[in-house]
Amino acid sequence: MSNNNQQQFQQFYEFIRILNRKDKQYEEVVSDAIAFLADDLFIGRLTGELEILPDAANSSGVQEKTVFYTSEKGFTAEDPYVLVNPIMKPGSVTLTAFHRPNQPFQPEQRLALQAVLELINMVAERNYMILTAERQGMMQMLTGLPNAVGYMKEVGKKYRDRTITDYDAYYFNLTGYGLINKNFGQTEGDEIMKRYTGIIRSFLEPEELLGHLGGDNFIALIRKGDRSLQFQKRIRQVDTYGMQYGKQIPLSIRACAGFMHIERATPPEQIISGPAAAGGFAKRSKETIVLLDEALNDRLSRAKEIEQGFEKALVNHEYTVFYQPKVDAATGALIGAEALTRWFKGDRMVSPGLFIPILEQSSRITVLDLSMLELVCHDIADWKAAGENVVPVSVNISRHDLMDPELFQKVAAILDRYQIARDDIVIEITETSNEAEKEQMIAFLTQLKEHGIAASIDDFGTGYSSLSILREFPVSEIKLDRSFINKELGEKDAIIIRMIIQLAKELKIEVIQEGVETEEQRDFIMKLGCHRIQGFLYSQPLPKSNYDLWLKQGRKPE
Ligand code: C2E
Ligand code: CA
Ligand code: CA
Repeated sequence: MSNNNQQQFQQFYEFIRILNRKDKQYEEVVSDAIAFLADDLFIGRLTGELEILPDAANSSGVQEKTVFYTSEKGFTAEDPYVLVNPIMKPGSVTLTAFHRPNQPFQPEQRLALQAVLELINMVAERNYMILTAERQGMMQMLTGLPNAVGYMKEVGKKYRDRTITDYDAYYFNLTGYGLINKNFGQTEGDEIMKRYTGIIRSFLEPEELLGHLGGDNFIALIRKGDRSLQFQKRIRQVDTYGMQYGKQIPLSIRACAGFMHIERATPPEQIISGPAAAGGFAKRSKETIVLLDEALNDRLSRAKEIEQGFEKALVNHEYTVFYQPKVDAATGALIGAEALTRWFKGDRMVSPGLFIPILEQSSRITVLDLSMLELVCHDIADWKAAGENVVPVSVNISRHDLMDPELFQKVAAILDRYQIARDDIVIEITETSNEAEKEQMIAFLTQLKEHGIAASIDDFGTGYSSLSILREFPVSEIKLDRSFINKELGEKDAIIIRMIIQLAKELKIEVIQEGVETEEQRDFIMKLGCHRIQGFLYSQPLPKSNYDLWLKQGRKPE
């Protein structure tokens, strides 16, 4: 071949190699590639015929004819070059090159055509295999690993030959893969994913299984015992690299996983869903690898019940408000109340500690919080109508609610609907040390402040950034966490608490201590300068009818 020829062949080859690129049709790639050689090889037209004989899987067989390329210079049907290739299944692929009018193929062209068409054929065959695998829906395109369907097919075999109980079933999800994609771009992100799966794949023994559900979600079947432990170690951290500006950047890819020991009684449906549930739990609880045991299983199914029963419970008015009085310890006067959710499920009362964290995993918590606010507003309107002297009621807003960009508007709309004065409500929200959350929180608190609605920082002192919160967050109250009075406090603790209380007062921020159960605790915190108190010492959270009595008397009812 001449130099020029070689170059064109090179170009052709570069093109045909990428036949499996998902963004280009097979036909398109072949026709683009062959265009580089068409003039030299006198090609007027190139066609392909795929024939697959009928078999059990496909009773009518397949017959497809494709025209890959037609030259502007035309072609003749005479004396074409034909390459027939048997393929895996009974059937064949026939590639036919027709020459241009008055330009019959010479021995030189025929020789070159043989090589070129063989190559197209080989790539086409690989392409065909991938397509069939995909058509049958068993393979994940990017990594070539079995997807859920392909994986379950193999799992089925292990059930049939009764080896399934030799394995632990895994579900794992890569940590921060979104960030890798963001930093390296989608294309290199895909390459990194392939490198990663290559490493995991090479860890596997022939009988073990690895599947790719898409995205950064994987499933695996690994032998119980040592192998399973080694696998956990393997996925904890995989060291690979990403290419950036022609340089290899080292990368550690970590995974978060759930797994279960497969027992004789394990139904196939649970081989993916069981470990996936444990994996979800691992992610939420910021753990790396979690075993789905009976305790976790119970816990997860209870959580599911709570989630699924939420809407119905809401419609049935199963959630109600209890009011816990806030008291000025110096005078005994009622100065406010905190609204706390109670769930009456049948004749049982479920404590918020059990269902709030579950509802916080979705926007259900926002629905609950807003409906609690609504119940409180409804009560306040009632009290006002009855001529009671109302005191401000604090309503808890979950930090999760901040994700709703219209949270403030929704809060304001409820206050308006019941014509509630802005200072009858306090929004209580726990402090955060997470930067992204912090911004959302400041934005929300600022909106509240601009509209004259007071806000309180709950559980103050449990985060890390407590003191800077006083400066950065526009709040009118901080609520000291129970831990301030619960643990054995030393001289230094007392000094710090005294400082916080003084600092807050100078910043015109009210301080309240929650969780006061004993007189000693009350005296301790009062001595440090805080006399606003909430806790069992004065009262448990009360149903409205009991709290009404507090309101009537403006203090603890006699
Ligand atoms: P929290 O906001 O810190 O509420 C104070 C919790 O301490 C309440 O628990 C209250 O009953 C309890 N408590 C009050 N005084 C004492 C005391 O002297 N000693 C002890 N040991 N505990 C005391 P509860 O009602 O079980 O609520 C637990 C948590 O659930 C709340 O903690 C809050 O984070 C959340 N929660 C309750 N209602 C709602 C709500 O409507 N929305 C949201 N987002 N969260 C809520
Ligand atoms: Ca609270
Ligand atoms: Ca609290």
